[in-house]
Amino acid sequence: NKIYKSDIEIAQQATLLPIKHVAEKFLNLQEEELELYGKYKAKLSLTLLDRLKNKKPGQVILVTSINPTSAGEGKSTVTVGLGQALNQLNKKAIIAMREPSLGPTMGLKGGATGGGFSQVLPMDEINLHFTGDLHAITTANNALASFIDNHIYQGNKLRIDPRRIVWKRVLDLNDRSLRNITIGLGGPMNGVPREDHFDITVASEIMAILCLAESLSDLRTRLSKIVIGYTYENTPITVGELGYEGALTLLLKDAIKPNLVQTIEHTPAIIHGGPFANIAHGCNSLLATKMASKLGDYVVTEAGFGADLGAEKFLNIKARIGKISPAAVVIVATIRALKLHGGIKKENLLQENTTALMNGIANLNKHIETIKGFGLPYVVAINKFITDTDDEINAVIDWCDKEAHPQALCEVWEHGGKGGIDLANKVLSIIDSKENHFHQLYDQNESIKEKIMSIASKVYGATGVQYTSIAERQIKEFEQLGWSELPICMAKTQYSLTDQAHLVGRPENFTLTIREFKISLGAGFIVALTGNIMTMPGLPKKPAALAMDVNEAGFATGLF
Ligand code: ADP
Repeated sequence: NKIYKSDIEIAQQATLLPIKHVAEKFLNLQEEELELYGKYKAKLSLTLLDRLKNKKPGQVILVTSINPTSAGEGKSTVTVGLGQALNQLNKKAIIAMREPSLGPTMGLKGGATGGGFSQVLPMDEINLHFTGDLHAITTANNALASFIDNHIYQGNKLRIDPRRIVWKRVLDLNDRSLRNITIGLGGPMNGVPREDHFDITVASEIMAILCLAESLSDLRTRLSKIVIGYTYENTPITVGELGYEGALTLLLKDAIKPNLVQTIEHTPAIIHGGPFANIAHGCNSLLATKMASKLGDYVVTEAGFGADLGAEKFLNIKARIGKISPAAVVIVATIRALKLHGGIKKENLLQENTTALMNGIANLNKHIETIKGFGLPYVVAINKFITDTDDEINAVIDWCDKEAHPQALCEVWEHGGKGGIDLANKVLSIIDSKENHFHQLYDQNESIKEKIMSIASKVYGATGVQYTSIAERQIKEFEQLGWSELPICMAKTQYSLTDQAHLVGRPENFTLTIREFKISLGAGFIVALTGNIMTMPGLPKKPAALAMDVNEAGFATGLF
């Protein structure tokens, strides 16, 4: 019986190279292109994009997965492992990933920097405050909230209706008691009372904007377009009208620069921006992906949750805005999750059960169909857990072979890059041999309802979409305001292809409910909220934070 170390133990025992060394040796960066944040973290100057503007971009490999279970299915782990494996094959590969959010780190997940021998480092710092990007976004978001309330307090020249303010405050924590609050109490000296709300920072439009902006001037233009609310006459009011786009851009001037770190095997990793894929668009920043593709021949990047959320938004939103054409997709599946999709209970996970496994494979099959629907070549990566039995693994491999789905057993958690060589070879081979007919699933000019129906039917497998009366009214308003020709960012539970978390596997004959819309003019999309999805999560009964501590030498425990 082998003893396995925890992610944080493995991370603390790894030897890191100075990041300066990684930048010079692996990326040929010039000294002025690197801004050091201590020894092992650095920000990358946007000027390097000018220097490399004539260089052909590398191939973008997108990592996605089946619908996850509560612990995550190992997408980050496979992303890091695949990057390491490509480097072991002497390919110049760079990883591009999202920055973790403290909400889920302290709540359920314990961290989001990969696992086992496929991690990005220094994992504790990346998982905690990193280079301060999330704090800068939180501050910019809340500065805007304070400017709005001050405008009303100082006479309200723009006639902002306090009941129609849509800009919410944010915090990078899970805190359900802040979802609905009252502010401005305490008399005339203390502001104007109104109902207000908190979202988690990763759901802020400013996070989305930072992740889609291509330069500081693009950032400023996008910030100025943010709609903060409506007047008493119901006309939208933007940041540009309030005049604060300059201050907000200033607050974000460093946060816009991508962060460079390394993996356990010293593969360069650019970690930048982190919108959630269930309530936001779910991808690391466009600048990070673009820089990685200029600096390497291959970029391995991840989109959050299953292919119904992160990958759909990567392909329909980020790839559209950034004009990215991915070379291949890796679809991560685990035996554990497939068994859960096949209907077994969590407490029976350790028992071999190929029947449940083969029932659950319907979920994988749906996500494969989705990726095929985008015209992209793919490989199924079976992320091996030590508890998987040979019969179970063979059952999935045989199914893939029978259906002619390229597959690879992936052991990057246990063995690092070495455990991903087969996956890396298969990815390289499909990039060379398979046809790539990448296209978006809908045209931006289609109506809001047509676009939503495309996603619901082609990606989720829904038979129809229903709208609440609020949503119906908003569609009319958005059309009148000329906002309907934007991509749609769906907000939906990650656990199910439907809008109801408990419906696992591959549900059929269901309709999706659109509860409400939110306009994100700065980001450049319309958010459609389905079911009862929350934009400020709550904490579980036993938060991961209960196990966290730090010793006198400053070493963290309890991050995983
Ligand atoms: P995701 O990106 O899908 O959310 P992660 O890669 O963050 O998932 O992994 C979630 C957790 O599962 C991490 O703690 C990681 O160490 C663990 N994990 C991932 N793959 C494996 C594996 N093959 N065996 C054991 N643990 C794993």
